[in-house]
Amino acid sequence: FAKLLRREASAVIKKLISHGVMATINQEIDVETMSVIAEEFDVTVIYKEEVDESNFEEQEEVDAPEDLVERPPVVTIMGHVDHGKTTLLDQIRNSNVTAGEAGGITQHIGAYQVEVNGKKITFLDTPGHAAFTTMRARGAQVTDITILVVAADDGVMSQTIEAVNHAKAANVPIIVAVNKMDKPGVNPDRVKQQLMEHGLVPEEWGGDTIFVPVSALTGNGIEDLLEMVLLVAEVQELKANPNKRARGVVIEAELDKGRGAVATVLVQNGTLKVGDGIVAGNYFGKIRAMINDRGRRIKTAPPSTPVEILGLPDVPSPGDQFMVFEDEKKGRAIAEKRMQKRIEEERGASSRVSLDDLFKQIKEGEVKDLNIIIKADVQGSAEALKSSLEKIDVEGVNVKIIHSGVGAISESDIILASASNAIVIGFNVRPEPNARSMAEQEKVDIRLHRVIYNVIEEIEAAMKGMLDPEF
Ligand code: GDP
Repeated sequence: FAKLLRREASAVIKKLISHGVMATINQEIDVETMSVIAEEFDVTVIYKEEVDESNFEEQEEVDAPEDLVERPPVVTIMGHVDHGKTTLLDQIRNSNVTAGEAGGITQHIGAYQVEVNGKKITFLDTPGHAAFTTMRARGAQVTDITILVVAADDGVMSQTIEAVNHAKAANVPIIVAVNKMDKPGVNPDRVKQQLMEHGLVPEEWGGDTIFVPVSALTGNGIEDLLEMVLLVAEVQELKANPNKRARGVVIEAELDKGRGAVATVLVQNGTLKVGDGIVAGNYFGKIRAMINDRGRRIKTAPPSTPVEILGLPDVPSPGDQFMVFEDEKKGRAIAEKRMQKRIEEERGASSRVSLDDLFKQIKEGEVKDLNIIIKADVQGSAEALKSSLEKIDVEGVNVKIIHSGVGAISESDIILASASNAIVIGFNVRPEPNARSMAEQEKVDIRLHRVIYNVIEEIEAAMKGMLDPEF
């Protein structure tokens, strides 16, 4: 902005500060502020609006500070298998039902809300980081706070570390719930020590990570945990504008025999109302009914509310974003455009793995692609790896995940790798015997790993080695 004005950045910052905007040099400022500041320099801002609303997830309109109100935090629970994620989610759900709601939360819709000290907290009901990663892979940042569950008797395990890395990558604060404290002889300090090695230093040892000893089974410590969630939320100053058209994310969706397409969405901003026309993923529909986590029909859903909606013509995918478009014609056109775009993307993706195209790519030799095939033990890991690797940013080299799947590394993986000059990453899986010998023959490099972080480190190093030497 300073450049456009042909002024020193410091002069612009000074003006901003004099208007009460405590700006730094790389801060984004909104159009209104720009106009005011420009005027101070005798420059007029002409704002040309040129928005293609079909990619609305990339366009967040800025809310005026006075329109913003506090919203509940959205919490995801992550941790190693069997460390007590599901038990904790159930315990929180059952013991924090608002007074007068004797029935409790009977409805599992993929997320629920509880009230603690008069404040609400929204929990995503799918434990584990598959959900977290799927959302992020689709560009939706849903989680405000992660509760990392670590069983005190078991300590830090592989998925614990993965979860830490997911949360870190997404810049989401972590609260550690040291679970199973009811078991005899368990020592929470061991968990603290182990997590310190991964950068989570307990507050009482001079760091800024909150550790709460709990028992998901007995309910001990859960109240403390929830109070800590509220504390961290307060520091984050989570806000939204309830007085505008809603936007948010699809958490779950399915086709119900009686009710048609049913989607659970999380409202992130604005207020969703029955009768609203929305585009969710690639579909436009009018909301016929909304049902909350207690199975009650509701008419409005303010920010951070999870709610089941009826009225979409088809089933969107988890992680798809939605937005209200009151103009039905426009809504339909946007949905159609999004559908078209997705079809084109899929076409592009499949041509990448066809032999013709791969051969062409290699021959061109201009772009230095690092082609990668991922095989993992579970879909969640494969997706997590894929999205992590695609994010590696080394100048001049382009990471391409040409295939990712679940199961042992097979001959067909090797054929594909050989044809596309790709390396194969096995995550918690091994090659089949035939595949191994074929790989030797074809000189295909297979790398086996058990920790996502190690894969990323290795690939990054390899990419740096691939660069042209600088003279
Ligand atoms: P998840 O895989 O992380 O969702 O773990 P679960 O919630 O399914 O719990 C795995 C096992 O640990 C179950 O048998 C639970 O009953 C048990 N468990 C969970 N939390 C506690 C706890 O606080 N204390 C004890 N003793 N057992 C627990």
